[in-house]
Amino acid sequence: MNNIEEIKARIDIVDLVSETVKLRRAGKNYTGFCPFHANTRTPAFVVFPDSGTWRCFGECNEGGDIFKFVMKKEGWDFPEALRYLAEKAGITLEPVTPKKKEENEYIEKLRSILEDAVIFFRHHLTQTENGRQTLSYLKQNRLLNDKTIETFELGYAPNAWEAMLDHFHNKGINDKALLDCGLITKRNEADGYYDRFRNRVIFPIRDASQRICGFGARALSNDDMPKYLNSPQTLIFDKSALLFGLDKARKPIRTADQVIIVEGYFDVIGLYQAGFQNAVSPMGTALTPVQMRHVKRYTRKIVLALDPDSAGEKATLKGLEVARETMDHSAEFVFDPRGLVRSEARLDADIRVCSLPDGLDPDEIALQDAARWQTVVENAKPIITHVIDTLTAGKDLEDPKTKSEIAEKVIPLIKDVPNAVERDTYRQQLAKILHVSEQSLFSVSEVQYLNKRRPRRQKMALEPDSLETQVKAERNKFYNLEKHILLLLVKKPDMVYDLDRYLKKNDLQPISEEDMEFGDLQLVLSLILDSLKQIDTAAEEYIDAKLPEDMTWLKTDSEELILKPENITQNHLFTDLVQTFLNLRKNKVVEKINSLSMLHSSSETEPGNLDMSMIQRELLESIKMRATLDRVLSSPLIGD
Ligand SMILES: [Zn+2]
Repeated sequence: MNNIEEIKARIDIVDLVSETVKLRRAGKNYTGFCPFHANTRTPAFVVFPDSGTWRCFGECNEGGDIFKFVMKKEGWDFPEALRYLAEKAGITLEPVTPKKKEENEYIEKLRSILEDAVIFFRHHLTQTENGRQTLSYLKQNRLLNDKTIETFELGYAPNAWEAMLDHFHNKGINDKALLDCGLITKRNEADGYYDRFRNRVIFPIRDASQRICGFGARALSNDDMPKYLNSPQTLIFDKSALLFGLDKARKPIRTADQVIIVEGYFDVIGLYQAGFQNAVSPMGTALTPVQMRHVKRYTRKIVLALDPDSAGEKATLKGLEVARETMDHSAEFVFDPRGLVRSEARLDADIRVCSLPDGLDPDEIALQDAARWQTVVENAKPIITHVIDTLTAGKDLEDPKTKSEIAEKVIPLIKDVPNAVERDTYRQQLAKILHVSEQSLFSVSEVQYLNKRRPRRQKMALEPDSLETQVKAERNKFYNLEKHILLLLVKKPDMVYDLDRYLKKNDLQPISEEDMEFGDLQLVLSLILDSLKQIDTAAEEYIDAKLPEDMTWLKTDSEELILKPENITQNHLFTDLVQTFLNLRKNKVVEKINSLSMLHSSSETEPGNLDMSMIQRELLESIKMRATLDRVLSSPLIGD
């Protein structure tokens, strides 16, 4: 149970509303004068204890849960209502605990130490003898100019064991903080610590918001191993979540609508200097799902510039198999080259691989001949073509065993391609290369493929018994419909425009906060609508930045939903959105009709309690609305 559910379970809506509204029992429910509009004669405000909701059938014509009640009554936003009700319910909210606050402050402190370290390393690059040698290495061997070196804040870690330690000790920073920053390492035998980075080129690593997270470091002497060394995992450095260069590449990626994924720091920097500023690199790992999510925010067009040496090719293929295995055994996405194919299928992403001329790295090519690099990128091949080429290179394609080995590896990739025409093209391509008929290729594998598919994870079923559970299930229906709409919109806020157009065409009101009955979900919809009203940041980013911590699960769930194979096209998503939205409105109007009928009959037994003409008028309007919604729901929707 999350905080919101817990609060709802603990606070009785009748008690809460009774604090400000005098309620009278009417059958199972309670009625009173609406606190939100001027009314003294006819009680139009109803509280439904079973569902934990309220509704004004008068002027306001709106309703919601306890959060929405408090928000409306006090004029608060959701976080304020959450704090208030949590306190009332005796629940401690995680984000505002002093402990959490302390932790955030500590993280800020670590960042300021790291910012200081950036200056320290830069000082040593430009102001010391060894540093100047390193500087000339960067300029002469790596062809970098002063401006680039400054832009990327490159530095030099002095060839000493305690230079950094002394620097920070003098500033009164203790070992614990330095250790938590990943700047020092504990000695093995003796007590004490020593500098983690020694005699290395230093690359500060920042996140997309340009906050410093840690460092990458390249050895300058061949004796120093490993060649590349990163900050260790710390509170702020998680190499599986960071992409080097993203702080600078963010905008260029969006402008070019393309990201180039390279393997090293120098590739990113060299490409930048050569005018290709849309490159990023993971840090010595295959792309992870988190990194993929970062990239996806800016573009769906991904070009992989893989290492050209044969070890690199082998690693790629090994990655394919590993990823395939992983895919079959967990719900997590894997973004090795093999996984990228999968993501290509599910994310609507265009993933290409460019082959680098033998022995050359991207930065070498680009810095010597920018036009040549441009051609390399333009000639990038779709990933399946690349895999087929790689697997078949230098193989005896007349050998039946080789044929079946290759087919086994490539067929699953082809099956993941969402577009039928493309899929057919790849099938033909593969059949042609292997000199076999298309039929023989795909009859066997069809069975294998189906057998390998695993059933979807089952959601935990609700306990079926108590009345309370039944009521909750009814509420859940509404919650789930509202949630589903947000899952579709939180990642694709632009669909609001299409939805509104569609609603308008059918004489229905546009989507608004009023469509959300649950305060937490209403807040998110309100964010989504706001995101479209501003122009400073991309809508999705705007939502991302403002989504309360309690609601971040929406993003993860949304990705899961959008990545489902049936949702690969925008059309499917939009159809889903329209249907869910119409169903939500219909369910609400049906509920309203039921409530009104119930009130109607209960006020027959308790006359004088409610304004009958108002109820009848509302009832009539609701029935009309239901008919309209039925008509729209049954009319053929969007052409697919
Ligand atoms: Zn009202």
